[in-house]
Amino acid sequence: MKILSGKTGAPGIAIGPVMLREDHVRVFNTETAEPAQEIKRFDAALAVLPDRFSDLLSSAAPENRGILEARKMMLEDPSLLDAIRAGIRSGKTAEAASLSVTEEKAAALEKNENEYLRSRSADLRDIGRFLADHLSGRPDRSCPDVPSVIFADEITPEEISAADRNNVLAYVTRKGSPASHASIVAGNCGIPYLYGVDPDVAVLRSAALVAVDAAEGKLILDPDEGTLAELTRRKAEDTRVRIIRDVSETGIRVCANIGSPEDAKQALRYGADGVGLFRTEFLFMKKETPPDEEEQFEAYRSAAEYMQGKEVIIRTLDLGADKQASCLTLAPEENPALGHRAIRVCLDRPELFRTQLRAILRAAVYGNIKIMFPMIASIGEIDDAMEQVRLAAAGLNAEGIPCRIPPVGIMVETPAAAVLSEELARKADFFSIGTNDLAQYTLAADRTGKDMERYYRPGDEAVLRLIRMTAEGAKKAGIPVGICGEIGGDPAIIPLLAEMGISELSMSPARIPKAKQILADLSAVSADEPADEFEAFGAPADGRLIPMEQIPDPAFSSGVLGKCIGIEPESGNIYAPVSGTVTMVADTLHAIGIRSDGGHEILIHIGIDTVALKGKGFTCSLKAGARVEKNDLIMTADPDVIRAAGLNATVILVLLK
Ligand code: PEP
Ligand code: MG
Repeated sequence: MKILSGKTGAPGIAIGPVMLREDHVRVFNTETAEPAQEIKRFDAALAVLPDRFSDLLSSAAPENRGILEARKMMLEDPSLLDAIRAGIRSGKTAEAASLSVTEEKAAALEKNENEYLRSRSADLRDIGRFLADHLSGRPDRSCPDVPSVIFADEITPEEISAADRNNVLAYVTRKGSPASHASIVAGNCGIPYLYGVDPDVAVLRSAALVAVDAAEGKLILDPDEGTLAELTRRKAEDTRVRIIRDVSETGIRVCANIGSPEDAKQALRYGADGVGLFRTEFLFMKKETPPDEEEQFEAYRSAAEYMQGKEVIIRTLDLGADKQASCLTLAPEENPALGHRAIRVCLDRPELFRTQLRAILRAAVYGNIKIMFPMIASIGEIDDAMEQVRLAAAGLNAEGIPCRIPPVGIMVETPAAAVLSEELARKADFFSIGTNDLAQYTLAADRTGKDMERYYRPGDEAVLRLIRMTAEGAKKAGIPVGICGEIGGDPAIIPLLAEMGISELSMSPARIPKAKQILADLSAVSADEPADEFEAFGAPADGRLIPMEQIPDPAFSSGVLGKCIGIEPESGNIYAPVSGTVTMVADTLHAIGIRSDGGHEILIHIGIDTVALKGKGFTCSLKAGARVEKNDLIMTADPDVIRAAGLNATVILVLLK
């Protein structure tokens, strides 16, 4: 066993084989004696690419299709293909020419003054490897064939969004930074990400198994049995939904940051109380043309519908600096983080802004949506942005299209906004503090800069004072204030934020259970009483949490049997929510009772009216009197069999009276 240290990009634990991205190109000859034949082989491989892409596109998640389409476009670029053919004519094989031509072009791009063009060099290298993989009959390297931990020099947010989430267990990279959008997207997708690891590649390659403990900042090569058992236990606790007491006593809601409507599923899975930040710029990335009003409307409406009435804060476009979209080229700037970005771009391009606002106002009819403007640094900017909201509403009303102006808030992510918070609070319905940028601008430290961690410290006293000042400004005006920067999910800082009067913390979905646990502990401590055991229960199944009142059976939803929680299951695995003794297993296996070590009587009831199935679709080998440990797999109950019988498959956990 060997342990290497790294830094947390996105928390989580993963165990599996490692795939070195640089290895994932098949070994091939680099020289050819028959260039004409080789060009024919190259052209034949290109001819089947459209079919390969239509297969990829038809199976891709909607949020990943734009990226694939952009990749397809790049592969159709005649100047690129001609350069590769020229390389082949000079004696290189098609694979070697693809790699060398894309490398040359990427290296040239890296020297470009335009930050956006520089950032595209990684895409070009990607395309080169993709072509070499394709020519040598190897599948797309960003999609390993078996579930694997991917090791790479660095990783882009686009690559993470395009990844097959079933086969990417975790990312480990040499380069990275905690507030980069790669870290943020990995967190949104629930993929553990560890950066700053610089292993001996030969040693890494020879590891049969690796464990990534991204929360603790460790990459463990060939973990021993004890370590493996401990990590497996922690992973089960971390990745499964934890049912915890309603933390409303603290008055703080714990919400999710998302980048696509599909991310809302992760949000619900981890028990989010809402979406505190929908980063809409991710809908624009890797698209040839900006999404039109209809496409945006669908995206916002479906996020709101997924969240089933819970609040969804839609942030208007925050493009610029390290977030660029090729469909909206921004003029090159010396200091893009201090230049035309976010609300400035929107106010400069009213037609772009208006399209987005129209889509949001229309979607607001279908759910609990709020609007939020990023990067506000002056009072005039809110006035101007609000004017655009009113114009968008007036246009829709004149056209007879249903719409609603929802509450409108602002992000406090410039020191100017924090200092002016009292005045700004009179103009906004709510604040959300973007500590990722607030720290960057307060400490004059690039959030994505190499070796900037010494200077970029979101928990620095200077940043905390600005947060406190903002919270006080909001309080005076009587508006709520949340935090949607990464600090909101930092276990060490949450208690301080709670004490400052922050009413909402929004974070990567995977951080939610821990944050809720901390808040529940805080409220238990302040109430000077031990926490009720229910809050420490594990979930009996993976899936979406359903509050007691929404369980579709009055026997449970009325609470007459005791406090209940439902889970719409994603798989058929049923786990012990506590350690204890089995008290009964129904003959038809649809229910199991457990007495916890703390003396609670628990019932796990699978589905509604499932007694009628007479055990079909269920397996359980436990008998009354058996001992179970928390998170043990105690039975299986196939939700598809239950649903196919026309029954509801909700797994219900009842804390019997
Ligand atoms: C922030 O700056 O804290 C924030 C949440 O916005 P983003 O990370 O998208 O810039
Ligand atoms: Mg920001």
